[in-house]
Amino acid sequence: MSHCAVTPPARVLVTGVSGQDGWYLAQRLLDQGHDVFGIIRDPAIGPSLTDELPGLSLLEADLQDDTALRAAVDAARPDVVFNLAGSTSVARSWEAPVESADVIGVGAVRLLSAAWDHGQETGRSVRFLQASSAEVFGDPATVPQTEKTTHMPITPYGAAKDFAHRMVQVYRHRGMFASAAILYNHESPRRPETFVARKITRAVAAIAGGSTDRLTLGNIDALRDWGYAPDHVEGLLTIMRAEMPGDFVVATGEARSVRDFVRAAFAVVGIEDWEAHVTIDPALYRPADPRALVGDASRLRSLGWRPSVTFEELVRIMVAADLDGRVPATSSTETAQAGQSARRTTAQ
Ligand code: GDP
Repeated sequence: MSHCAVTPPARVLVTGVSGQDGWYLAQRLLDQGHDVFGIIRDPAIGPSLTDELPGLSLLEADLQDDTALRAAVDAARPDVVFNLAGSTSVARSWEAPVESADVIGVGAVRLLSAAWDHGQETGRSVRFLQASSAEVFGDPATVPQTEKTTHMPITPYGAAKDFAHRMVQVYRHRGMFASAAILYNHESPRRPETFVARKITRAVAAIAGGSTDRLTLGNIDALRDWGYAPDHVEGLLTIMRAEMPGDFVVATGEARSVRDFVRAAFAVVGIEDWEAHVTIDPALYRPADPRALVGDASRLRSLGWRPSVTFEELVRIMVAADLDGRVPATSSTETAQAGQSARRTTAQ
């Protein structure tokens, strides 16, 4: 638990390094002079990842494969482990609830256990950071939520994240520096279109460019707390450096509806009559959908963290990137799944 455990160059292991958050996190850690080890499932993505993130060391493993995971932990000899792996799509968890439970829920336990055993065997103190989620709160009665809000998940994704979160608390009780970052929605040009924010900004850019004229959405009344992914990654780093482990909400505290996001995105390209371009398809409504996920990050703010990008700036950054067409989706698997979800399910 000593402070020097995270002074560069610490050895940092990141699962989910090819996803949006893993990518930004690895980039920041490398910038700060840490030795960064990223776990990937599919070796085919290795070369493009190390091209983009020179200095990143890659290890192959799957959160469903205990042996490979333990081998990766032993090879990395980490001071810090960030668990960011697993599909981040709530919509997808309705299609594959068993896989969600195994990768997100049990997978976190496999990694916690491997990190704990590694610490015991080598005498190192290993810090563990879990990407938890506002989805653990389900459809909460209180707005905004804090670390003390009751967990009552209503989606397979939320239930799996809740189990992982509780196991982090179990290991913390056992004496490990194990923290859970309760992440609210956070977006960037690296987000795949499974998420509504990227779906909207892509479509708005296409409409502005004349290649399409429609955006089809489900429930646009839901309220979300949308932050900028690099800001939330700074939140993870703040939690990593904290003196004590704990649970920390990572959120902006600002509630906006999906409709607000749509309006703001069209405004960036100078279209005011956005309703003329939007179709609501009830087939895109989800079986269960939290009405208002808004976080109170006072605890993390007390450690000095602040979001640096406003909602309007976030929308502008994403629309601008899509107008440019230069920033690729980070995870090709999630992008491919996005297409499938849209065709196959009402849970998108
Ligand atoms: P989530 O909050 O982690 O599930 O993030 P999403 O970006 O996937 O969804 C945010 C909100 O947008 C949810 O309330 C969805 O029901 C709503 N939404 C409305 N239309 C769509 C759509 O076409 N795709 C997605 N992904 N969400 C949509």
